[in-house]
Amino acid sequence: MNVSETLSEVKNYIDGKFERNGQNSMDVLSPLDGSKISSIPLSTIQDVDSAVQAAKKAFPSWSDMTFKERVQIFFRYRTLLEKNMEELTELVQLENGKTYGEAKAEVEKSMELCEFAVSIPQIITNEVQEVSKGVECRIERKPLGVVASITPFNFPNMVPHWTLPNALVLGNTMVMKPSELVPLSTVRMAELLKEAGLPDGVFNIVNGGKEVVEAICDHEDIKAVSFVGSTKVAKIVYKRATSNLKRCVALGGAKNHLLVLPDANPEMTASNVVASMSGCAGQRCMAASVMVGVDKVQHIIDRMVEEAKTIIPGENLGSVITKEAKERIEGYIAEAEKNGAKILLDGRNATVKGKEGGYYVGPTIIDYVTTDMSVAREEIFGPVISILRAKDLDEAIEIENGSNYGNAAAVFTQSGGLAKQVMERASAGMIGVNIGVPVPREPFSFGGWNESKFGVGDITGRSSIEFWTQNKKTTIKWNPEAKTNWMS
Ligand code: NAD
Repeated sequence: MNVSETLSEVKNYIDGKFERNGQNSMDVLSPLDGSKISSIPLSTIQDVDSAVQAAKKAFPSWSDMTFKERVQIFFRYRTLLEKNMEELTELVQLENGKTYGEAKAEVEKSMELCEFAVSIPQIITNEVQEVSKGVECRIERKPLGVVASITPFNFPNMVPHWTLPNALVLGNTMVMKPSELVPLSTVRMAELLKEAGLPDGVFNIVNGGKEVVEAICDHEDIKAVSFVGSTKVAKIVYKRATSNLKRCVALGGAKNHLLVLPDANPEMTASNVVASMSGCAGQRCMAASVMVGVDKVQHIIDRMVEEAKTIIPGENLGSVITKEAKERIEGYIAEAEKNGAKILLDGRNATVKGKEGGYYVGPTIIDYVTTDMSVAREEIFGPVISILRAKDLDEAIEIENGSNYGNAAAVFTQSGGLAKQVMERASAGMIGVNIGVPVPREPFSFGGWNESKFGVGDITGRSSIEFWTQNKKTTIKWNPEAKTNWMS
């Protein structure tokens, strides 16, 4: 894919204009083959301030528009996502390394997120009640002002859409900081939003790394910060933003456990587990990372290995994001092997003909992992699954409960009673029953537990409406003849 001029040198997007002011820059490489595809500015505190000032200036007129007017823009924007589907898909592939199908699914999900956003006016009709004779109380949801969204590398198109459409439809203006590894999709989002009629300043992008994130957490005019990324950074962002008295929801990493019971449907279970661990090269916060096999499940494991052998890097498996990520993932596999685990399928040293500079790891299945091994506890973020064995369901649930994370958990069984036990007792925010990637779809909200999320509420769906708004309570009396029968 040949990238356009605006994409070959990424600029910040402030007040409706793309600009670059001689900041230091960083190269953007395609993980598909390691080639340079673009560069970004490493922005400064001043750049963040310029974006916030633009968003602040745009806020009064944007928030003064009716819901109806604001959602019209997102109806048009959703259509533009559809119209530009092929290009947006190729862009995700280029900067993130996904397969065509995975990249396209991501853009389709972004459209779905816009569909939820345009339905918000139907959901929030506000509340009114006559609380005393002639006295009425009403609650209205009002926007917060300038808000910020900080995003990770693994879904360059979808994760920005977790926050942007909802926050804007609800009347806020936004500063976004995309991952420095995948800045291109966001540029096209800005262009398409402008084409859809979004007023200048309502949406702004500041590129860069840590300094930009810190400046966002510190800026006194930013009212709320949403973050999606690793747990290490989620903790830093949550602490810094809230200590500066901002609202914050910070989603972190994951170590998702899939509990496989002996009565599970072997075919469905094997294909679900393998798709969950290898889809998006294992770089999904909902990916299966640990499989806990309860009692006799060897027949399912055998099937998983056969199924995983059909997943070929460069064909139906994309790349991981960087050379460092490949080295980290391969390091985990080597360490597990050294500590006595058995590698049933080894994805190390994968290469793709003609793309020797790309960062590929094949699907990897590690058996006889014990709870003390790092592959059982730490987020690997690659197409790797660790199999632990449990004698019964109680032990399997105990293993799951022992994780510091709590994004997703799933159970594979044909018994409703046993599934219910996992639904009740798993310590995770999103549970799957015979589903390997249990992402709740709108209007249900997305968010984990424990160290997979910090803050109150979730990031999408109905829950996000709470996050992006504040309630205004008004008490009204018009008729002097009405005898107020309340306390005051
Ligand atoms: P990351 O934490 O390295 O980066 C996320 C963002 O934080 C980026 O914009 C980055 O520039 C910034 N950042 C990085 N280091 C920083 C620092 N020291 N101080 C301030 N800001 C910093 O995450 P990533 O590698 O881009 O994404 C992968 C991680 O995201 C995985 O852990 C994955 O599980 C997680 N993730 C979680 C969810 C979820 O819903 N829970 C969704 C997607 C990804």
